[in-house]
Amino acid sequence: MDRRQFLIHSSFLTAGLATPLKNLWGRTTGNFTPLRRNVGYFTERGGTIGWLAADDGMVIIDSQFPETAKNCLNGLRNRSDHPLDLLINTHHHGDHTSGNPVFKGVAEKMVAHENVPMLMAQSAEEGEGNQESAYPTTTFAERWQMDVGDETVHAHHFGPAHTSGDAVIYFEKANVVHTGDLVFNRMNPYTDRPAGASIQNWIKVLQSIEEEYPADVQYIFGHGKSDFGVTGGKQDITVMRNYLAALVEHVQQGLEQGKSREEITSVEVLTGFEEFLYADFWTLPDNLNLVYEELTQS
Ligand SMILES: [Zn+2]
Repeated sequence: MDRRQFLIHSSFLTAGLATPLKNLWGRTTGNFTPLRRNVGYFTERGGTIGWLAADDGMVIIDSQFPETAKNCLNGLRNRSDHPLDLLINTHHHGDHTSGNPVFKGVAEKMVAHENVPMLMAQSAEEGEGNQESAYPTTTFAERWQMDVGDETVHAHHFGPAHTSGDAVIYFEKANVVHTGDLVFNRMNPYTDRPAGASIQNWIKVLQSIEEEYPADVQYIFGHGKSDFGVTGGKQDITVMRNYLAALVEHVQQGLEQGKSREEITSVEVLTGFEEFLYADFWTLPDNLNLVYEELTQS
């Protein structure tokens, strides 16, 4: 496959929409992009993987799927021979954790928010997750950190948002943050209410992120519309927060005007956010219905 084709495919994959297409072009070995100070990201299929590959330490954030997790690990071996110190899962969803078995016995530590093992078990029971999986064994409630070589890696939980077990990972010296699925860059985001998601609290969580990290942090996002990509700056966090706030405002206004649930939620594109990707697997009405349920406690 030539580079142009590969980039087109990669951007589909980045958007997380590739599942039905996954076998059309056979094997790839993914796409590595260095960002700052031995930290970068990897895209192939599923949620964006973040990595640190240095002479004195190695970290992988999220694991996509077994095949792509192997490609990621093999590719990083060209950058560092150091054993894998850490695998961190930003949350439990299958496109971020199905590759975990590849790292079992390989990663020194497997870390996630304390709700993640339970949520992974729940998904496996419902047949949504990978039946044969490897659960994080080191968990935390709010804040966790570890020195890896000359880098300090932080994991922070700011409360329920995309799920009830979201972690934000901060490479302090590199000044890079992986948001997991707290940011779908210019995409209507999937919201997992059965796993404890809250759109209203998600807005507060994004505000906490904007306040917590330096203004010049480089962000890695779980997913992104292809022409916006899976990295960005503080302004992109604000766009995501404004989008969620607009969802809440739309439903609130509809309720005040006495409109029916059907009238309020039958919208294909949110005004002011026309550049967003509204994918079929999780629609704008899906999110508006969740906001409706949050606001009416139904
Ligand atoms: Zn997710």
